[in-house]
Amino acid sequence: MEDPIAYAGSPLDRENLRRRDRAWLEAQERAPETRYLPLWQLMPLLKLGETRELAWARRELFEDLDPAPEPVLLGTRDGVAHFAVDVSAEPKREPGLGVEDVASFEDLRATVAQIDAADAAIAAQARTLVDWHRRHGHCAACGGHTRSVQGGAHRVCTDCQSDHFPRTDPVAIVVVVRGERCLLGRGPGWPASMYSALAGFVEAGESLEDAARREVFEEAGVRVGEVRYARSQPWPFPSSLMLGCVGTAETEAIEIDRAEIDDAKWFTRDELRDALAGVSADLVVPPPFAIAHHLIRGWVEGELG
Ligand SMILES: [Zn+2]
Repeated sequence: MEDPIAYAGSPLDRENLRRRDRAWLEAQERAPETRYLPLWQLMPLLKLGETRELAWARRELFEDLDPAPEPVLLGTRDGVAHFAVDVSAEPKREPGLGVEDVASFEDLRATVAQIDAADAAIAAQARTLVDWHRRHGHCAACGGHTRSVQGGAHRVCTDCQSDHFPRTDPVAIVVVVRGERCLLGRGPGWPASMYSALAGFVEAGESLEDAARREVFEEAGVRVGEVRYARSQPWPFPSSLMLGCVGTAETEAIEIDRAEIDDAKWFTRDELRDALAGVSADLVVPPPFAIAHHLIRGWVEGELG
């Protein structure tokens, strides 16, 4: 099995059957052992300390908030229900109730390297769902109010009864190879010397392969033939699914679209090996929590052809 990838592999059972039972759901919300993960402005609560972990709370932490937040069921583990709860109604970032001495709300992207894989995956699911609920209080069909159902699995319009489900936005992220070289690009405002796999959203009516070829041609002017899927990563900023693939270039000349990217270049395996090891003087690649790192490493190590 491949190396684990950040934000994937949650240990929770999402309970997609039992959560349809309102009585079961209410019992889970009231059970004393039930755990609530508070998020403030989409930042999960983490325990303080050298290694960070999710700081699970009890209902008392948010019960008196106005308006009262609606918990979103993430799933169960060993029979214990785990919910996410949006406490953004709190005016301040401090968690309150004495918790500020032991925990703080932190940006998930900035802290992912400090928390373990299971916590990162749970926090990713929580962040994406809480964000989606915050932005879908009204029906896209009629403008009416929506309400959360099945513990936040989806929302239903109170006027026209339309169902609204959390979306996942597919992104093609492509390592383009030609013989012994690999094409990477850099976006505007990126850290100095950083290059990564080219990426873009899959658009309406496109296959993953279509999107990969189009993105690479639009951004770098390189024609790609065969596209092979490699692996994927949920990316909760806010709701993407990164679909990593390897494209075989049919042309070599680079023509950059400056509106999309700042630069694109061909790199050798040796250049990328040094960058992955952090010993390159003039090239930085994304860190291990990003799928691009795994795609680049896979190609350097000969696993992706
Ligand atoms: Zn409606």
